[in-house]
Amino acid sequence: MLRRFILLGLAAVFAVFPGCGEKERGDVVKRPREQVGRVVVVGFDGLSPVMVDKWVKEGKLPNMARIIREGTYGECMTVLPPSSASAWTSAVTGVNPGKHGIYGFLKELDKGKKRPAVFNTSRDRGFKSVWDVMSEYGRRACVVNIPLSSPADSLNGVMIAGFPHTSEDQIAHYWPPELEKYLGSYKYDAFRVTCAKGQEEKFLRSMEDISGRRLDVGLTLYDEGDWDLFWIVFTFTDRTQHYMWKYMDEEHPLYDPAMSEAYGDRVEWAYKRADAFLGEFMKRLEGDDLLLVMSDHGFGPLYYIINTRNFLQRTLGNTEDVLCADFFGSKFKIDVSGRNAEEKYDSIRKRLIEGLEAFEDPETGLKIIDSIYVKEDIYEGPYVGKGPDVLCLEKPGYLFFSLQVTPDLRLFDRGPSPDRAFSGFHRRMGTLFMYGKAVAAGRRVDARIIDITPTILTYLGVPVPAEMDGSVPRAAFTEEYKDRVILVKSEDSGYKKPTGLGSQDWQKIEKQLRAVGYIQ
Ligand SMILES: [Zn+2]
Repeated sequence: MLRRFILLGLAAVFAVFPGCGEKERGDVVKRPREQVGRVVVVGFDGLSPVMVDKWVKEGKLPNMARIIREGTYGECMTVLPPSSASAWTSAVTGVNPGKHGIYGFLKELDKGKKRPAVFNTSRDRGFKSVWDVMSEYGRRACVVNIPLSSPADSLNGVMIAGFPHTSEDQIAHYWPPELEKYLGSYKYDAFRVTCAKGQEEKFLRSMEDISGRRLDVGLTLYDEGDWDLFWIVFTFTDRTQHYMWKYMDEEHPLYDPAMSEAYGDRVEWAYKRADAFLGEFMKRLEGDDLLLVMSDHGFGPLYYIINTRNFLQRTLGNTEDVLCADFFGSKFKIDVSGRNAEEKYDSIRKRLIEGLEAFEDPETGLKIIDSIYVKEDIYEGPYVGKGPDVLCLEKPGYLFFSLQVTPDLRLFDRGPSPDRAFSGFHRRMGTLFMYGKAVAAGRRVDARIIDITPTILTYLGVPVPAEMDGSVPRAAFTEEYKDRVILVKSEDSGYKKPTGLGSQDWQKIEKQLRAVGYIQ
């Protein structure tokens, strides 16, 4: 019923906005539109190659197994930090955070003092998105629920913005705004969905409900829309792994046999559901259509929370000179000014890195930090200054969380607290599947998240911005198509001026991030 309702309205919307945003570019020779295949991107937030491998081997993910046989599959390395906000922004721009300026949901890192939080939105993106570039070349995009895309951009095509939403009492922002008339009453985003103990049933029902509605809306836009790029993102994979990991992992400090009896197969359920959704898009492909199935990061267990502020207090003797992150406490910004600021900066950075290097779990004697990075080694571009100065990745199972300093200066909470209840967390390696007539069969091809946008643009015959960091994984294409996927750079750098949003919006965003456990 939902689909029929939307259909009636969409014809009108598409008729009103046949080519909004289009600029003529006489200087670019491009293939006629009918000779170019379309690109379909299906994103599953947090889809992990480790779990995909396991369940494909067990015969539980038939559509993914088919792509592994008939297309390419590999790891997709995300950016640092592996936060959904920075990762999705890099996916849609093709550049590292130093060029787009988004390092997390929070715009400013927190010093542990009470002050109003300021959040990133789509208006803080400092680099053109794939749909911005496509619009300039007269190509149409249909974009559904990509995280950190609210408010929606006025693109040549259709957009349903993704979490967190910048407008009160509205599930999403739409482009064109007329879409709201047809979609406004449907709840299909992971909005205020958390999973405290005892709420598991409610949580899972809402995962099922929201993802089902999103698929329905997505397929309708897919079938009815006129587009060159269709990009949809499902987030139930991320949410389910965050909350349900402990029920399938016997090693987990919060593992409970009785609860596992009931919920131990729920992460598997999410992967099977993702696989079934994928099948819906696979059967719709035609001609030269190229399908990319990707995630913004992987997933793994979360056993121990590290109190970042207590760690800083022990390591530096204070927590005032270093700003911590939003949810992640593993990115550090050194905040010094005045006389000898440079000297102070160097000394704090040195001590912080030494402290991280030496950090061991007293129970096991094993190192806790897997890798440590300084900003000049991982970021490049005009927004490097906005990012953290030092960043680390914890060994699997540990997570820095920027809690308050406590008198006992304890470093660990064994097992995440049950009310916060995150028992799984992000890993740097996500997944990328490629499928279609143009894609070589049975090849293992690894890529980076910044390669997604240049691959889309190049396949569509559109030059990429000159400052693009990513490239096209040409090894994924057949000999016949290899010549078609040579990346061409335009003269446009790709930078765009972030306009920001008015302060009245922050509270609304904060409420949503708090509700899903992303900030304290
Ligand atoms: Zn994510």
